[in-house]
Amino acid sequence: METQTQFFRDTWAEINLDHLYENVKNIKGHIPNDVKVFAVVKANAYGHGDVQTSLTALSAGAHGLAVAFLDEAISLRRGGIIAPILVLGATRPKDVKMAADMDISLTVFQQEWLVEAERQLSKGDCLNLHIKCDTGMGRIGVRTTEELKGIEKYILDHPQFEMEGIFTHFATADELNDEYLDEQLVRFEHMLAQLDSLPAYIHSSNSAATLRKTNTLFNAVRVGIAMYGLTPSIEMKPELPFPLKEVFSLHSTLIHTKELGAFEKVSYGATYQTERAEWIGTIPIGYADGWLRKLQGQDVLVDGKRVPIVGRICMDQCMIRLPESRSIGTHVTLIGSQGEEDITMDEIAQKLDTINYEIPCIISTRVPRIYIRNGEPAEVSNKLLSTGVQGQLKNKELQDE
Ligand SMILES: *Cc1c(COP(=O)(O)O)cnc(C)c1O
Repeated sequence: METQTQFFRDTWAEINLDHLYENVKNIKGHIPNDVKVFAVVKANAYGHGDVQTSLTALSAGAHGLAVAFLDEAISLRRGGIIAPILVLGATRPKDVKMAADMDISLTVFQQEWLVEAERQLSKGDCLNLHIKCDTGMGRIGVRTTEELKGIEKYILDHPQFEMEGIFTHFATADELNDEYLDEQLVRFEHMLAQLDSLPAYIHSSNSAATLRKTNTLFNAVRVGIAMYGLTPSIEMKPELPFPLKEVFSLHSTLIHTKELGAFEKVSYGATYQTERAEWIGTIPIGYADGWLRKLQGQDVLVDGKRVPIVGRICMDQCMIRLPESRSIGTHVTLIGSQGEEDITMDEIAQKLDTINYEIPCIISTRVPRIYIRNGEPAEVSNKLLSTGVQGQLKNKELQDE
């Protein structure tokens, strides 16, 4: 596990694992007992930290994990995770031996892929496969029953392969109008009906479908965004069956303050000019941390009050307008709450004309993640520093040789 006990900057993200635990428990409670939850932890668990998030989700009753790429699955195995892991995206056939050796399940949707993959496997190997059906997402997956039957037969005829699952993915599950989702569901059920025998896992629901629907659950669901306490779409907000608790919050610290006179400029381009004497504070977070330039003008929280970012956001720093003098070291919350005030992921997403999914993903690995467990900071993950340290060790080993 890439963990460090330290970091050396005044900006950090807090990952509230207690909230994550509660969200997973609530999701489990919302669906029938026999429906298994695959916690979707692709993209470093949507920026939250793959291993820590996975361990918490599993402890809250998730059955397994799902990622997009084989590298992500390997990262989890190297982090000590032994639960079932499914790679949802395409894997190159030449890499399947690694998956078989590490007991990582892969997604298949082309028969030629199986032919090539088989060459990489030896007699005793067993590669678990989930067949992906494209029922209307138009991304990856088999579209015809002929393709499906071909793949099923090939898997059954070759002992190196095990047909462990079959799944599809909805394009519009987060929209309240179910017309297109229902069409996709009919196509998926038609495909299931073609199989000689059903595999262990049948799944179609992402977070939105899991929260909204009962007829799409089959015997497993793939839950990402809801586990992180975020609503899949704004229109779903009033319809949530239980409250979701945001897991990710973003924090910084005043590292400098000064009082500028009237008509003084702030930051690149001198785009901001003070109207009167103003207290301006500097915080050490910028676009290289994923705090994008478009967030100019966005509020942050200081002492429980909203204050605006003024002037252009720089690569590593930005400036805020304070109501009065504040001491260095004052806590600044960029996403999260202070007292009664709250800046949600949705607020930041709206400011950036995007969806909440994108926000934690773009907060870069330069920002250390502090994990909160039982209300206490329990652990720090600093990907930047841990790679650096490993790099140094490698260099040292080389020098010693
Ligand atoms: C990312 C992903 C999910 C998770 O979706 P959420 O909306 O975050 O729950 C599920 N299935 C597939 C195939 C995905 O790519």
